[in-house]
Amino acid sequence: MSATLGVLLKELDPSLTLEIFESRDEVATESSDAWNNAGTGHAALCELNYTPEKADGSVDVSKALQINEAFKVSKQFWAFLVEKEHLSKPRTFINRIPHLSFVHGAKDCAYLKKRFEALQKNHLFEGMQFSQDPVQLAEWMPLVMDGRDPAEPVAATRMTIGTDVNFGALTRSLVAHLKKMPGVTVHLQHEISDVRREGKAWRLDVIDRAQNRRRPVLAKFVFLGAGGGALPLLQKSGIREGRGFGGFPVSGQWLRCLNPELIARHGAKVYGKAAIGAPPMSVPHLDTRMIDGKQGLLFGPFAGFTTKYLKNGSILDFPLAIKPDNLVPMTAAALQNIPLTKYLIGQVLQSPQARLDALKEFVPHAKMGDWKLEHAGQRVQVIKKDPKKGGILQFGTEVIASKDGSIAALLGASPGASTAVSIMLKLIGDCFPDQMKSPAWQARLREMIPSYGQSLIRDAKLHARVTTWARSTLDLRDEVAVGK
Ligand SMILES: Cc1cc2nc3c(=O)[nH]c(=O)nc-3n(C[C@H](O)[C@H](O)[C@H](O)COP(=O)(O)OP(=O)(O)OC[C@H]3O[C@@H](n4cnc5c(N)ncnc54)[C@H](O)[C@@H]3O)c2cc1C
Repeated sequence: MSATLGVLLKELDPSLTLEIFESRDEVATESSDAWNNAGTGHAALCELNYTPEKADGSVDVSKALQINEAFKVSKQFWAFLVEKEHLSKPRTFINRIPHLSFVHGAKDCAYLKKRFEALQKNHLFEGMQFSQDPVQLAEWMPLVMDGRDPAEPVAATRMTIGTDVNFGALTRSLVAHLKKMPGVTVHLQHEISDVRREGKAWRLDVIDRAQNRRRPVLAKFVFLGAGGGALPLLQKSGIREGRGFGGFPVSGQWLRCLNPELIARHGAKVYGKAAIGAPPMSVPHLDTRMIDGKQGLLFGPFAGFTTKYLKNGSILDFPLAIKPDNLVPMTAAALQNIPLTKYLIGQVLQSPQARLDALKEFVPHAKMGDWKLEHAGQRVQVIKKDPKKGGILQFGTEVIASKDGSIAALLGASPGASTAVSIMLKLIGDCFPDQMKSPAWQARLREMIPSYGQSLIRDAKLHARVTTWARSTLDLRDEVAVGK
């Protein structure tokens, strides 16, 4: 998120001076690192949680349209950076992998068909295929269909233009580009320990871990893009807009495939339906990954409960974030979400056999020895005030900016890194409203993101033009070889 913001701001105003502080000895080792997230280019092509069924039985596609458009904004920006040679070799960070939704049972098959029909009405989802034919499905996802009970009704949709994104590699390339620009300094092993007002500026207390010393830094504008570490820093800033916010940490685990034959037989991201009571980010999926030029395969995520806000954080993160101003929202959210807490505890206590059983729903012939359990990144779900309920837990992202636009933070992690560009454009609009409206910035934004200020959802011709360009510039024309 910070790397995206930095590049956007420097493109808009090359004279800006930027300092980036990263507590670890490398950037993108937390949620953005490749194996810490699923690397799905979230465009709502296969994620069923973005298309809920309404009470009248119809399928609500509004969120799917919005996420699809946001991902296409990201793709345009990345294509612009590739064209300018600020990012090289797109296949190091983005690869074309079909996205499939897969369901079983008559009820879910009927839902998937309705979802397919509803999405077909918009050009954003052109090219989506639907099938209930086991032979066709076996061609699309042999591992998933092998050994399945032929009497069980199954259905899938497939979009061949889905992507796998290595957000870690992308972040490192963006930061490498930033480092080459005049006026940008990247400080690794530098942790921000405090943020407070000093006159008209913000004073950051920075701990230089390598030199074991502290120093203050003054800044006119601060972005707290610290992932799970953003909430404690927001609280330290004391801004009125940040009051009442809390965070509920959810950890994740994957089963990572060790068997090269199985990895080679699956070439898709296959998303299923979340179990009843499961949070939206716990939708099970069997994911082909392309990391450092190698094909990989993961299944998950299994959620877990932890009190850490970062994978490399402290178990005190959650208790220390409970403050007088968020006590009511945190307590209200906790009381409303007892089933979620029970679900998460159940996930933590899951036996290896129970995890294998969950995997067998996707890969009926799965064997324990072919898979290894690994820890994914942390997500900190936003808790915020609610006039009726006292407090609510939400699963999206929230940009919080001070009224004068001098400081902003990003909380939450969904749909996540895929929509980083749209999220950061919103943040720039909140914090630099006058510059954002200026003809110079508007023109530059249209150069960077050709659809900027227009609707890809409504304008089919614009959509066709920009997606053709972005696809070809990002080298997304060929599918990864699908296993047999
Ligand atoms: C299990 C899982 C699966 C996911 N799957 C997907 C997916 O498929 N697609 C998708 O688009 N998104 C996905 N996401 C979400 C996505 O990973 C995040 O939205 C995104 O990576 C967040 O980026 P960030 O820059 O905000 O945070 P991070 O990548 O966590 O970066 C924050 C950085 O701040 C540093 N930091 C923290 N505190 C301090 C401090 N005090 N001082 C200095 N530095 C500090 C950290 O070391 C870290 O490098 C997933 C997330 C998880 C956990």
